[in-house]
Amino acid sequence: MEPIFADKTALVTGASRGIGADIARELAACGATVACVATRAENAADIVAAIGAAGGRARAFGCRVEVAAEVTRLFDEVAEALGPVDILVNNAGLSAPMPTLKMTEESWDLQMGVNCKSVFLCSQAAARQMKDRDGGVIVNIGSILGRNASPATLGYCASKAAVDHMTRVMAIEWARYGIRVNCVAPGYIRTEMIDQLEADGKLDARGLERRTPQRRLGSGADIAHAVRYVASDDAAFMTGEVLVIDGGWTAFGYYQA
Ligand code: NDP
Repeated sequence: MEPIFADKTALVTGASRGIGADIARELAACGATVACVATRAENAADIVAAIGAAGGRARAFGCRVEVAAEVTRLFDEVAEALGPVDILVNNAGLSAPMPTLKMTEESWDLQMGVNCKSVFLCSQAAARQMKDRDGGVIVNIGSILGRNASPATLGYCASKAAVDHMTRVMAIEWARYGIRVNCVAPGYIRTEMIDQLEADGKLDARGLERRTPQRRLGSGADIAHAVRYVASDDAAFMTGEVLVIDGGWTAFGYYQA
């Protein structure tokens, strides 16, 4: 693959598995040195080994991305070990589906913390490093549920809608520093998150496939390819944008035949 990110340091949160692991793999294949972040560094050991085996450079870091002190420490450690961050991908996230009438304060705080507050904390820490250099790129991983409503997902939908709009605010504030901020919003992607929801009876994957015009769930690679484009100079005039990658899910407005 063309080394379009040679000499760049990328930090990907939630890189131990799923979409984040595929993004880390993709950026490393394009020459970036990647900080693979999970709640504990050990959780990202496998993806770091896989990147190394493929000839890339990566290192594992542990951080709960919703905890300010841990985020500050993370960005200091990464700068020390790999250099200041040029590309930040805010991917860490979780979903805790629950009917709104039964939803707890803890569930709200957890989803808003990991999916939304983390984007503020990590983007601020990254932008402070990027501002004094040649700028940089921030890619937030949102969701089609940031725009479309689904039942029993109030905390998740609210957190992802906030990510869409935080993307715009940060983009217009930081454009003057050469920092681009965009969001990639996936549709339904086959990862452990989906597997677990399916196993818990909270999601019908076959039904989702039938509802998707392309008749399949997405792959982590589908999202990683979009992130590669958004992070590259090919997208140099793109900032404050939400790019939906969903196999036609949100475009579909007819009835299911
Ligand atoms: P997974 O559940 O497969 O992976 C989640 C990742 O986030 C893991 O690496 C996990 O690390 C990390 N993580 C969870 N909590 C924290 C935390 N508090 N601090 C740091 N890291 C944390 O998720 P997906 O790959 O499916 O999803 C990735 C992103 O894509 C999320 O933001 C999700 O909302 C979004 N998305 C996913 C869709 C899908 O269909 N899968 C659809 C639309 C959006 P650890 O191993 O340490 O637990």
